[in-house]
Amino acid sequence: MSRSARKRFKYSPFISAGVISVDDLLKLAQSMKDIGAKNVKLTGETVFVWDGTQQPPGFEEAAIYQANQFKFGGVRPVKMCSAETFCENNKLPVLDLAKKLDKLYHNTHLEMKLLIAVAGCRRSCSEPSTKDVGIIAHPEGYQILAGGAAGFKPMIGRDLGMVKTQEDVVDVVGRIIEFCKTHGRRSVRLGRIIEKIGLDVFRAHIMDGAPMPDPVHESAVDE
Ligand code: SF4
Repeated sequence: MSRSARKRFKYSPFISAGVISVDDLLKLAQSMKDIGAKNVKLTGETVFVWDGTQQPPGFEEAAIYQANQFKFGGVRPVKMCSAETFCENNKLPVLDLAKKLDKLYHNTHLEMKLLIAVAGCRRSCSEPSTKDVGIIAHPEGYQILAGGAAGFKPMIGRDLGMVKTQEDVVDVVGRIIEFCKTHGRRSVRLGRIIEKIGLDVFRAHIMDGAPMPDPVHESAVDE
C-alpha cells in the first residue's frame, strides 16, 4: 500500500494532564463515533477511578478487559507507537508483532518488572531505548535493544543486534524473559544485571544461545 493510501484523517484531543471525567469521555467517544471514527489509539495506561476503595457492584460484568497489574513484578503491556494505526512511516509491520508479544508474554510473572516497547522506525515514538526490551523496525529487520530504563537510574538500552522476522523477535523476547525468570531480582532492572555480567556475555546468551555462567553471582544484582 502506498504511503498516501495509508494516510488517515486523525484528531488528537488535548486532554490536560491526561485526565477526563467518564461523562466527558463518553461524550467524546460518542461524538467521534457519530462522525465515523473507527479506532482510537490509547497512550500509556487507561485507568478508571472510583471515589471509594470497594469494588463496585457489577464490576465483574462491566470490566470486559483483563486488568493491568502494576503492583508486582512481571511483563507489562507492550508500549506501541502509532505505526499502522495512523502513522505511515513504519519500515516493517509492527502492530501485529506488539499484539503477539502481549498475547504470549503479558503478565508473565517475574521478580522484576519488564517493560517492552515496539517502534515502527528509528524515530522511536514509543521510546524503546528507555525500556527493558526495545524493538525498532528497520528496512532490513528488527533491531533488539535491552536494558533501558527511565526512573531513578535512567539507562539507555544496549544494542543486541538485528533479527529478520517477527518470529525471531518473539523468540528473542522469550529468551530474555526466561533469563529474567532465572536471574531477575525484585526492584533490579535488567540494565543493571547486564552492566554487571557484561553486555557481550548477555548478548551471546540471548542472541546465540551461549551458556550463561550459572547462577549469576548474587552481588551482580545488588542495588
Ligand atoms: S516510531 Fe516511526 S512508525 Fe512509529 S509512530 Fe513514530 S514515526 Fe511512526
